[in-house]
Amino acid sequence: MPEVQDQAIIQAVCDTFAPSLDAPAGADDATIAFYRDGAKARGIDVAVAGAVGSLDALTRGAVASLLERLGPDFASADLETRTATLLAVADESMRLRLGVRQLKAMTLATLVGAVDETGTNPTWPALGYPGPASKPPAAPKDFPLVTLPAGEAELDADVVVIGSGAGGAIVAARAAQAGQSVLVLEAAQYRNEADFRQIDSLGAATMFLRGGSLWSSSGQMGVLAGATLGGGTVINSMVCLRTPEHIRELWTSYGLEGLDGPEFDKFTDMVWDRIGVNTDATQYNANTRAMITGLASLGYRHERLPRNAALDDDATMCGYCNAGCQQGKKRSTLHTYLQDAVDAGARVVVGAHVDKIVTEDGRATGVLATVDGTTSLSVSARNVVVAAGGIESPAVLLRSGIGGPAVGKNLTLHPAWIVTGVYEEPVEAWHGQIQSAVSFDLTQVVDGGGFLVESLALNPGTWGGQSPFTDGRTTRDQLRKLPYFATWHGVSHDHGSGEVYLDADGRAAVHWNLDDDVDHRIAVRAHTELARMHREAGATEIFTFHWSDQRWTKGEDFDAYLTQLADSPIDDHTAFSAHQMGSCRLGADPATSVADGWGQLHDVKGVWIGDASALPTAPGVNPMITVMALAERTASALVKSF
Ligand SMILES: Cc1cc2nc3c(=O)[nH]c(=O)nc-3n(C[C@H](O)[C@H](O)[C@H](O)COP(=O)(O)OP(=O)(O)OC[C@H]3O[C@@H](n4cnc5c(N)ncnc54)[C@H](O)[C@@H]3O)c2cc1C
Repeated sequence: MPEVQDQAIIQAVCDTFAPSLDAPAGADDATIAFYRDGAKARGIDVAVAGAVGSLDALTRGAVASLLERLGPDFASADLETRTATLLAVADESMRLRLGVRQLKAMTLATLVGAVDETGTNPTWPALGYPGPASKPPAAPKDFPLVTLPAGEAELDADVVVIGSGAGGAIVAARAAQAGQSVLVLEAAQYRNEADFRQIDSLGAATMFLRGGSLWSSSGQMGVLAGATLGGGTVINSMVCLRTPEHIRELWTSYGLEGLDGPEFDKFTDMVWDRIGVNTDATQYNANTRAMITGLASLGYRHERLPRNAALDDDATMCGYCNAGCQQGKKRSTLHTYLQDAVDAGARVVVGAHVDKIVTEDGRATGVLATVDGTTSLSVSARNVVVAAGGIESPAVLLRSGIGGPAVGKNLTLHPAWIVTGVYEEPVEAWHGQIQSAVSFDLTQVVDGGGFLVESLALNPGTWGGQSPFTDGRTTRDQLRKLPYFATWHGVSHDHGSGEVYLDADGRAAVHWNLDDDVDHRIAVRAHTELARMHREAGATEIFTFHWSDQRWTKGEDFDAYLTQLADSPIDDHTAFSAHQMGSCRLGADPATSVADGWGQLHDVKGVWIGDASALPTAPGVNPMITVMALAERTASALVKSF
């Protein structure tokens, strides 16, 4: 909890983002309440002040710097002065901007995204947002888990797997099916259909890494990853794309023997079959139809996306997919490989955060973990599979002092550049399948690099928290247009990279800047192409997630807007990453890679990399299938080694 004086400043900052305002003349009761009840009336200012202490070291530090810079006078200044001060201070340094960004996101995402005990948010009637379509079913919570007593515990296994997501679940299943004793340690908790409430803010708080609030040190990259039993596969959008041929050839040249041949086709087919990938259940919602109109009008092609959804998937429920599929139609690892693993005898512990891998004479001997914060668990195992995801896997190796100089380097993120159009007719982009079409036509437009065009999920909290801020009234006015938003992103293929390092608390932190010239040019091209598509599809207003408001309104000079987007300062760009890869990559050279071409660490025998962090480069397509096929391949090598 910050000092009393700091609390007063934080509360004044919250009240600047969401002040109490008069509604426009003639507004109905819901709209009057939406304008009137700002951060103070809703208790958001007090809640945010209370929550700042639990942020990670980087953002906590950025908020502390901001409070120092604003000083005590800020709390007593009028609204206009506070607004101007915050905007000016955010331009002084990226660290101060991160502090402003964090408090803005917490305030506005809470205002329109957080729910009360009844599962609703009081602003939704004014925004036209319907909230959940149905209640969670009474699904039994019967996934078999091992529970441990508080205090100290010891376990033995042949193979211990760290993380239960796309990669870890596969290696666990294959090792257990090969007759090994397998223990899966998953840091997050077990949630299933009975817990999925179709509320994005709750889904993020309970099933995303750091509650969905992890920023790169520059604040330019928001990092989204799954943290629940089953990892990202439980909350992802089910886009299934095979590894591109040219990427397979490149990785073969890096020392991943045979990756360009039939054996990797076989591993990919195995995954494709097990998670039931199909296009038969794929349906376009209004958001995606608008995107297809924009693409076609500019002469760009699109394809129907393959998804790992059951064939009787009910598309009307799919807008809440990133908060888990209440219908149980998402063929996540929880319903596939993790089940296979326990069917073959694997044991699973949740709430088990692996702190360190233990080694002796260059060989793995086990891991040390903390379970539910109360149990110190020591596991003896001759094989350790690191599959904690692209952000946490390198942190495990760094804390263990193993993996060599490349650990944490080469982090690729598929930076996603988001552009939203406001249409004359309601789009209600929260209805229907989040992602159902893709265009590959712009994947090689900037020095051989480029981006995929795909649509996105829409929810009030994200658009409230991340849309550019100019003043409290404009923010409220804009949010009332939510049903008219169509929103798409350009998912770019990294040219440069970032890095995972350990912060002051020994936790994973991310360094990433838009400092690579090719990546910058891809970002500009993505923003301008998506803006052109929106205009072709009939948008009357277009805006981006740049820090400063980059907006076009019908009647204004569109070419001038494209120039403005192209000329916007590099630091103004804001990206999001749902794909973190490469931070413990495979390869032949121990100076530039962490593990050999089959996944075993160069410097420690018996430690294997089994997740997205193993990818030698970004694949340039949504990575789940690649992560899983590579995990099948690594599992085959692990099984051969027994
Ligand atoms: C919102 C969203 C949408 C996405 N949509 C798609 C899509 O449509 N298509 C696609 O291809 N990809 C998508 N992805 C990406 C995809 O889900 C990931 O690439 C994939 O899940 C990565 O697999 P992984 O095994 O590396 O890690 P994860 O699946 O993230 O699993 C890692 C697990 O390790 C656990 N863990 C972390 N640290 C520790 C520790 N110290 N000890 C023990 N356990 C630990 C975590 O809690 C987590 O459950 C999406 C991701 C997100 C966030």
